[in-house]
Amino acid sequence: MDPGLQFWLRYVDDHGGLTEPATDGTLVVLPPAVAAEFDLPDELMVTSDPDVAREDGTVLLTTGHPVLVRAADTTLTGGDAGVVALAAPNAPAPGADYLQDRVREQFPVDHGRIDVTGLPTRVTRLVLRVGALVTYTVSDEECYQERLECWVDALSGLSLGDDDVARLQRAPRAINTATLPASLLAAAGTAVEHAHRVLDAAANRRRRTLSAQAADAHGQERTRARAYYDDVLRSLECRRATAHPDRAELLAARAATIREERARRLLEIDEKYQARHDIRPFRLHALLVPGWRVPVDIRRGARRYPSTFDWLPALASYANEGCPHCGATAPLSASKTRLGCIACQPGPVPHAVPAGPVQPATRAPWA
Ligand SMILES: [Zn+2]
Repeated sequence: MDPGLQFWLRYVDDHGGLTEPATDGTLVVLPPAVAAEFDLPDELMVTSDPDVAREDGTVLLTTGHPVLVRAADTTLTGGDAGVVALAAPNAPAPGADYLQDRVREQFPVDHGRIDVTGLPTRVTRLVLRVGALVTYTVSDEECYQERLECWVDALSGLSLGDDDVARLQRAPRAINTATLPASLLAAAGTAVEHAHRVLDAAANRRRRTLSAQAADAHGQERTRARAYYDDVLRSLECRRATAHPDRAELLAARAATIREERARRLLEIDEKYQARHDIRPFRLHALLVPGWRVPVDIRRGARRYPSTFDWLPALASYANEGCPHCGATAPLSASKTRLGCIACQPGPVPHAVPAGPVQPATRAPWA
């Protein structure tokens, strides 16, 4: 089925209508308000198959149809925001040995070791799902719209990988309606900023790809314009070389004007191909992910760095954490003075090689 029609059927379902698959299309019953909104009858048969739509009374609805465009506009304007809580785990927390093995596996520590130091306590980890419609303008004639989405862990500010997103989407939801606890509001605000940066960076990358595709057209248009003005200037120059002094002066002035016109035209062409993008956020889901906070010591010899990691049953792993010093996702590294990661800890000081007398080269046995 056409994704546009799929979207519209979901829209109808969400607005109190009924949709029923039939042999040659989908039977749709619309509540009066929705029927009026789309200027459609209360009951109709729809399809995205043009062959089926040739039959009497079946409406062809495919991407680009005004009815779908209106539903998309209403959805984008209304936005899609809400709080979703995952069901709390029924099982007790995993045992300390298991938690310790898994934390050591997931977070290797250079020059150090992680020891679990106490019992896990319940915790709720906030994950934001942020969706936006991005409009890329590559040139005056080329414009694209695409959907971008990112999932950000509010506490670490790190984006979730595809596997983790899939696990969260499959995880069972709590039955009760959820509200965002006040204690997580500040973290949610910071996470929205993280999400914006992630989306903006993705949009920038995409824009560069799209404008690289338009670079050929840009180059060709510039070359054509240059060739045209060069021709005009060459012919003016030929006429000036053999003209009467009064006439030559006029022709020189004309050439100066043409050069200015050329500069203006080239600037216009560059502006025409000036790519830009606009991010229009329309989705914000706050996902409450229950887990277990595990207290640990990150140790280097006698030096201890107390810390915690959050075990999330929905992911069957710990929540990813950035370096406590610089926020990077590089492996941790414990020095004698601070806990960081291999990216921000000062590297080992190379041993100085003592300067000694140069040994005479021994003669190779085969020489
Ligand atoms: Zn670091």
